[in-house]
Amino acid sequence: MQAAVIFENGDVDCITYEDVPEPAVSEGEVLIEVRAAALNHLDIWVRKGRPGLELPVPHILGSDAAGVVLEVSGSWDHVRPGDEVLINPGLSCGQCEFCRRGEQSECLAFGIVGMNRPGTFAEQVTVPAANVFPKPAHLTQEEAAALPLAYLTAWRMLMTRARLQPGETVLIHGIGGGVALAGLQLARLAGARVLVTSSSNEKLMRAREFGADECINYADNPCLGDAIRDLTSGRGVDIAFDTVGAATWPVNFRAVRRGGRIVHCGVTTGAEATVNISHLYWNHVVVMGSTMGSDEEFRQMLAAVSAARMRPVVDSAHPLNRAREATQRMEVGEQFGKIVLVPGGKADELPRGRAASAPRSQEFAQTGGGDLFAGG
Ligand SMILES: [Zn+2]
Repeated sequence: MQAAVIFENGDVDCITYEDVPEPAVSEGEVLIEVRAAALNHLDIWVRKGRPGLELPVPHILGSDAAGVVLEVSGSWDHVRPGDEVLINPGLSCGQCEFCRRGEQSECLAFGIVGMNRPGTFAEQVTVPAANVFPKPAHLTQEEAAALPLAYLTAWRMLMTRARLQPGETVLIHGIGGGVALAGLQLARLAGARVLVTSSSNEKLMRAREFGADECINYADNPCLGDAIRDLTSGRGVDIAFDTVGAATWPVNFRAVRRGGRIVHCGVTTGAEATVNISHLYWNHVVVMGSTMGSDEEFRQMLAAVSAARMRPVVDSAHPLNRAREATQRMEVGEQFGKIVLVPGGKADELPRGRAASAPRSQEFAQTGGGDLFAGG
């Protein structure tokens, strides 16, 4: 079968399109014909290499996929050959105390499809049967592939970690990235007022179409935290939702109200920051981290998406053999929403990416010193 793979760690040029063996289906696994696979920033970190992460090569990249079940090993009620499915890319042991509590993303052996086993940028992929969920019926395969990692991450950040309540105010940085847009859509669904930031007026205009109440161009607002306070009558927001990291860390402490919550899932601008501890305790600020989510949160997210007929934002779709170019688009931050790869797709039939970008230098620049996730 054809797949987008790497033979070594490196920059985007090390992604190649190769003929690789079809995956063998082990006990308890499901073989899926991939119809669409979405990009995440995680792909970049895996490709560049992680300390302690040894990848057998060629390694197939990719964590998100939607497709059709070809084969099922074992007897399962929830999945049969021919089913249209998407996969939850979180891998957990099922045995440890956290798995037994239903907190799979806190598993001692937590891993991710595309990092700890072969990924989804291929014509076929195998995953454990527990990782397979029915595709929401109202979504295309491309839209369904856009959901898993980004929307699960945003769901857990807002609903489980920050405990968003209707009527609260949420600040979301760097609108345009997959997790940020998922946060916007889900926060609106939950009845929140949402403030978004970007350096691109075009991205801010598009965010308004998706329900953003206040759109702030941070390039025009050097005192971003003050600008956000002004938009909340000096009160501050209830929740700061952050995939950006070091660049927005001090802004969040200025922007949240007394007792506000700051929730982080990524650090595309760097992982190191300092905190004024007196500010932290005097203002009762709660800072929390979050990574992907549990099986139950994945189910809840899909149920909410289906009930609301929500459509994830797809920036563009590209043939699988253009994985390198599609990844380049994500790396320079041009996208508004999820970038999707389609195996066997004909380039002419696919929508091309829209240029929604500000000059790269004005965006929250990636330092490369960050960590997993974010944006996407
Ligand atoms: Zn476990």
